Amino acid sequence: MTTVGGSEGGPGRAIRGSEGGPGRAAGGGGAGRRDAVALRLEGVRKSFGPLEVLRGIDLEVAEHEVVCLIGASGSGKSTLLRCIDLLEPIDAGRILVHGEEITAPGVDVDRVRRRIGIVFQAFNLFPHMTVLRNVTLAPEKVLRKDPREAEAEALALLERFGLAEKRDEYPDRLSGGQQQRVAIIRALAMRPDVLLLDEVTSALDPELIAEVLDVIRELARQGMTMVIATHEMGFARETADRVCLLDGGVILEEGPPERIFSEPREPRTREFLRRIVEAGRL
Ligand code: ADP
Ligand code: MG
Repeated sequence: MTTVGGSEGGPGRAIRGSEGGPGRAAGGGGAGRRDAVALRLEGVRKSFGPLEVLRGIDLEVAEHEVVCLIGASGSGKSTLLRCIDLLEPIDAGRILVHGEEITAPGVDVDRVRRRIGIVFQAFNLFPHMTVLRNVTLAPEKVLRKDPREAEAEALALLERFGLAEKRDEYPDRLSGGQQQRVAIIRALAMRPDVLLLDEVTSALDPELIAEVLDVIRELARQGMTMVIATHEMGFARETADRVCLLDGGVILEEGPPERIFSEPREPRTREFLRRIVEAGRL
């Protein structure tokens, strides 16, 4: 495998090789897996008061793998991503990043969050800062990067995703699609091990969705490990190595997208996909 990054300031990850088609790193196989495990969830449970949202989630994500989480609204996709980023404490189970248990008592939460990038539906850019400052802030303050180095890396990322000319604009001067791309770039600037994307196109006008999906596709090609909660089934189908359907607090069904979308095994998966088709989203 070749690597990218370096001078262009990319995440410095391995490009997917020609063998790297869908299903290459699919979970469940066990024997013969070549990729290292980037993220592992074991029996993760989470309740809000009496409401049990996650009822034992087991999930393994290989390095460079792209996993799409699908499921009805309220099925717990956001909660799952928030638990992985330690924004919600879990009630039971374990979460490991590259073999290190991040849910163990006494773990430095800030250090863990540096390794995990998360982007939400609402872009949450700092409104009083320029695009460039939005991207350089955390690398400078959290990673203590030299400001010139942080700026050079930020500019390389902005360049790579076609936003270099917006470097001095404030967020409210950008379209929603541009803001969301900046939010993704801001997360990338921290060079996370894993990037979590929560419905990042849901708040966008339809004509702006494509430019954001293009960025994610490009990251997938470059080998970024991602867990993506999405309602964009066409995107999941073409980009994911594996699709997981969340239902009833568990991953009810998972597999390569072609299989999940064309031959779903579980009646609940079929029902979910039927509703998606009816809504014109597949
Ligand atoms: P999804 O992202 O799949 O739509 P969520 O993870 O947002 O699902 O929500 C799953 C369930 O958990 C929903 O019933 C939601 O109302 C509930 N929930 C999420 N966050 C909280 C919270 N902080 N307090 C109470 N209930 C919550
Ligand atoms: Mg959600």
